[in-house]
Amino acid sequence: MALATPSGRGAVALLRVSGGAARDLVAPRLRSASRAEWVARRSFLAQFLGREDQPVDRVLVTFYPGPTSYTGEDLVEISCHGSPVLAEEITETLLKAGARLAEPGEFTLRAFLNGKMDLAQAEAVRDLVESRTTFQAKVAAEQLGGRLSQRLGPVKAQIVATLCHMETTLEFVEDEVSPQGRSQLAVQIEDAERQLGDLVESYQLGRLVQEGAQVFIAGRPNAGKSSLFNELIRFDRAIVAEVPGTTRDALIETIDLGGLPVRLVDAAGIRETSDPVERLGVEKSLEYLQESDMVLFVVDNSIPLDPEDLGIWERIRGLPCVLVLNKEDLPARLEVPEELERDCVASVRVSALERTHVKDLKDVLLGALTPAQKLGIEGVVVTNIRHRQCLERSRRHLREGLKAYRGGMSEEFPLYDFRKAVDALGQITGETTTEDILDQVFSTFCIGK
Ligand code: GDP
Repeated sequence: MALATPSGRGAVALLRVSGGAARDLVAPRLRSASRAEWVARRSFLAQFLGREDQPVDRVLVTFYPGPTSYTGEDLVEISCHGSPVLAEEITETLLKAGARLAEPGEFTLRAFLNGKMDLAQAEAVRDLVESRTTFQAKVAAEQLGGRLSQRLGPVKAQIVATLCHMETTLEFVEDEVSPQGRSQLAVQIEDAERQLGDLVESYQLGRLVQEGAQVFIAGRPNAGKSSLFNELIRFDRAIVAEVPGTTRDALIETIDLGGLPVRLVDAAGIRETSDPVERLGVEKSLEYLQESDMVLFVVDNSIPLDPEDLGIWERIRGLPCVLVLNKEDLPARLEVPEELERDCVASVRVSALERTHVKDLKDVLLGALTPAQKLGIEGVVVTNIRHRQCLERSRRHLREGLKAYRGGMSEEFPLYDFRKAVDALGQITGETTTEDILDQVFSTFCIGK
């Protein structure tokens, strides 16, 4: 059993009891609950009797018989008034009656063990609970619906079909595969490997979805960096608390950019300097710059580029960059060198002061961070590092097996690798799991889920 709602005060608190004995455990603690009231999925009101056998609250009880419950076992939900004292009294009473407190993620673990969902779906439950932006929630909801598992199914089937073919060959030596057949099998494996590669690549976007992107605002003093920073965060005020200490050398705010958490960094300058104190600040800024996913290079549109702009351009060269031509409200006196235009993913004219085209800048920035082709792959995005590792392991085995197969080695060698490749995919969905993997996955859940 566990409290499913956050501990603290609220309108209601929800407690869940799962297991074959759930109903027998709860029923004696309810007054006025006749047997007839335990109809599947129909809520009924009852007095809950506390440890002293006195009514402590009027609660709403719902019974979900297995196997059609969340966990696949009999499950009782008790909604009481949302006082921590009440939730605790009900918990203590049920513990005394023989219940046990659930481990983190135990309800979902049971759902997995009872075949209600696969492992990737169970992980999606956690991601959904922990999502901080609508985009994260959307990706997690898709995974919960089985998108990733469905995407992996045909790839796995393809490898297994090849495996079977080769195994047959091993058994009936006279059925030697013709060179033509061999290359056809190899093509199948190659194709599977490529599809897994696409999924591995989607992790780049997946990581962005989970962890967010960092965007560095660069430009010489007076270009309008701070004004732009303030303008960008004006409507989408910080969505997460920053780590203390990070704001001393830079202003950092996280905004929700179209569902993507984006950390905007307005750091001290990055120009060459001989002043030792300033140099410390510059070094720190360069660290932020290096770990950023994108640079907003802010230049003053109302004056020509000067050596300082060029110095900053030198520093950010090679990093993905959006050129921001600020102060568009003033007469334009800036000519953008062709080379700079080429270096940048895009350029946008804005006025941080007059607040014009800031929305366009946001759209361009989001587009630059999540190029359309990355969003392809039939919408399946790998967000989980564990999944990525399994996919990579599977690919590696496919490549090694393919090498052995092409090299004309006896079938046993490639077979070994192809089986390992299938195993690695099975670990994503949980068909082939060890205690370790389950421990690793479910220990990251909160209690009550
Ligand atoms: P920073 O040094 O790059 O952070 O630049 P600031 O944001 O402090 O801006 C420098 C000056 O330029 C301030 O006086 C701003 O009011 C002004 N400024 C910033 N953006 C614009 C703009 O779009 N148009 C105009 N006309 N002035 C701007």
